[in-house]
Amino acid sequence: MTLKEIHERIREIGCLTFTTLDGGTPHSRIAHVCGCDERGLYFLNMSVKPFYRQLKANGKVALCGIFPSGRPTGKNPVGQPAFEPGYTLRITGEAEEVPLAEIEAGAAAGDATFRYVLEDHARYPDIRLFRLHRGKGEIYDYDFEMERRDHKLLRTRFSFGGETHEEPGCRITDACVACGACAEICTFKAVVPGEPYRIDGARCDECGSCILACPEGAIEPPRTI
Ligand code: SF4
Repeated sequence: MTLKEIHERIREIGCLTFTTLDGGTPHSRIAHVCGCDERGLYFLNMSVKPFYRQLKANGKVALCGIFPSGRPTGKNPVGQPAFEPGYTLRITGEAEEVPLAEIEAGAAAGDATFRYVLEDHARYPDIRLFRLHRGKGEIYDYDFEMERRDHKLLRTRFSFGGETHEEPGCRITDACVACGACAEICTFKAVVPGEPYRIDGARCDECGSCILACPEGAIEPPRTI
């Protein structure tokens, strides 16, 4: 996915949680991403806030949001919980403060985000702009039919700014003897028969049923993004 495509999803969600670290303690708040270009995603902050001090201390930030709500809408015909179609998005990465001179130069060149920030800065001089310049993340799409688990897409991972990411899903190792127990128990239809069997990470819900079912201990748990 490109940064522009990621930003389109973020705009659709609206506001996201931003989590930073104060020492070893995570702190979250709701904020919005105010712009995007090929160098990263932009968001505002105030230099008097702990949010600002935490970012200046280590730059680490994690974003998370959901579209549209994730509220259960009841149960489907086979008794499983049903939800409105939607998706979650999460990103973890590093942010840097954008110098005022760069904002002024960008605004003078006609950049809409920088012009908006400069206007805000005139009203609120304490405002600071940050760029999430390096990161990795995942879109988890739960827009699928719960009865048959016949979804269009489940997980898409991405990275930008020189970051790399692990592909999603459990992994079947060479210890597989092709007994088929994992394919039988997987309600997400993520297991592909073969020798060895294989898991399609994009379809894997990372529920762990296959790991418990495998008699050979041949399935590794999913890795962090
Ligand atoms: Fe291979 Fe284990 Fe799946 Fe059997 S349950 S097919 S051994 S991964």
